[in-house]
Amino acid sequence: MGLVNKARREALANGEKTYMGEKPCIHDGCYERLTSNYACVECRRRKGLEKLNNAKLMAKYKTPEKEAARLKKWRENNYEKYQQQWLKDKDKNNARASKRRAAVRDQIPDDADFDAIKDIYRRCKELCEQSGIVYEVDHIIPIAKGGLHHQDNLQIITRSENRSKGCRVDGEGSPYQ
Ligand SMILES: [Zn+2]
Repeated sequence: MGLVNKARREALANGEKTYMGEKPCIHDGCYERLTSNYACVECRRRKGLEKLNNAKLMAKYKTPEKEAARLKKWRENNYEKYQQQWLKDKDKNNARASKRRAAVRDQIPDDADFDAIKDIYRRCKELCEQSGIVYEVDHIIPIAKGGLHHQDNLQIITRSENRSKGCRVDGEGSPYQ
């Protein structure tokens, strides 16, 4: 009976999950082995991480429903952390919103037609109600890029179009350019 088997038998007898092998792993030089199947502990860890980071492999475990349930459970188990994070985000979101309102105020030109602007927002609301799809009023040239709060710089697009547009002028910052 070799040394390795002795170490493994001891581990088995003691209910230990790993034991020290005789030779290092050719991939990473690790000596620690799993008692159950002789596998290198370091290789196991690396392969596990690779799986976790493989979006395609994990897709079936990461459906929106499962992610929502996971988040909910995490919030329940980490209520204090969650509350702290929420307060921090609230401050951040409020700061961002007021900064944006100020920017919008600063970027209203003299010929802005408030009736026309209100009308665009009203049409957007109607579209949402009629279609059940979330539409948003978007600044074609974003406020953050110096775009104006003016009827000619407003368009109604779906929320998902708006999210994928982010804060950029059409075409700019596209991965295809
Ligand atoms: Zn290894």
